[in-house]
Amino acid sequence: MPEMDLHHGSAPSAAAKEKREFNKLQKRLRRQVGNAIIDYAMINAGDRVMVCLSGGKDSYTMLEILRNLQRNAPVDFELVAVNMDQKQPGFPEHVLPEYLRALGIEYHIVERDTYSIVKEKVPEGKTTCALCSRLRRGTLYGFAEEIGANKIALGHHRDDMLETLFLNMFFGGSLKSMPPKLLSDDGRNLVIRPLAYCAEADIADFSEAMGFPIIPCNLCGSQENLQRQVVKEMLADWEKKHPGRIESMFRAITNIAPSQLADRDLFDFHGLEEKQQRMQRDRIESVNLMAAEGS
Ligand code: SF4
Repeated sequence: MPEMDLHHGSAPSAAAKEKREFNKLQKRLRRQVGNAIIDYAMINAGDRVMVCLSGGKDSYTMLEILRNLQRNAPVDFELVAVNMDQKQPGFPEHVLPEYLRALGIEYHIVERDTYSIVKEKVPEGKTTCALCSRLRRGTLYGFAEEIGANKIALGHHRDDMLETLFLNMFFGGSLKSMPPKLLSDDGRNLVIRPLAYCAEADIADFSEAMGFPIIPCNLCGSQENLQRQVVKEMLADWEKKHPGRIESMFRAITNIAPSQLADRDLFDFHGLEEKQQRMQRDRIESVNLMAAEGS
């Protein structure tokens, strides 16, 4: 039943409208995360999922929605929140422990001074994010094993995945993105991305409404990769001019036709003649069969 504004008869108050919008948004995010988990078999009964928290809007949202789903899921699984303190100057180290303690969930803070390594290795003025992320990933992968987590959940969303797709096309000459589920190269870790179906704008709205204590990711003084920023703006511009384009592009990466592309490893172009002969033989056989049945 819609809530009534007591002062103005039937018109809903601004607060009630806001609450309804928030509930809709939360439901949408839950549904999308739930669907992604099912579609890619991300979480199974008995899993111990290490939820990586950076202090940004995406990872806070991921943790919140996963906790929500955990309460209603038909299967039991554990969530462990993990943050890495990379020793950037000014990193507010009390923020996440306070937040997580208040939630009452298991959490760990991993301290590793990747900041000094990055500063030492990357020339002044160059973007440090690539090395920084690599070091962070390596540490977190190792830590997952230490705490017996069999899945690692990262907060990348649909828009991150599309940006990565275009960056790889523009600069890497390959058609690849960030998959919703990934086995690490050494086979030791399974990475999942429960926000794979979620739009960044929804996550931003949710994060704002929830009032998460956001920690900025530029304490190190680095700028976000400039090219990623350019691609982000390109996608936003397309979406503005052609609403629905981002969703359509995302559907495209879930709906690939290898025979309509040009990757010789994915599709046997050399075998097409043989396939053609086989199909012709089959056709002749079925025509003969029909003729025999008709006579
Ligand atoms: S902005 Fe700084 S802390 Fe964040 S990924 Fe880049 S280098 Fe690392």
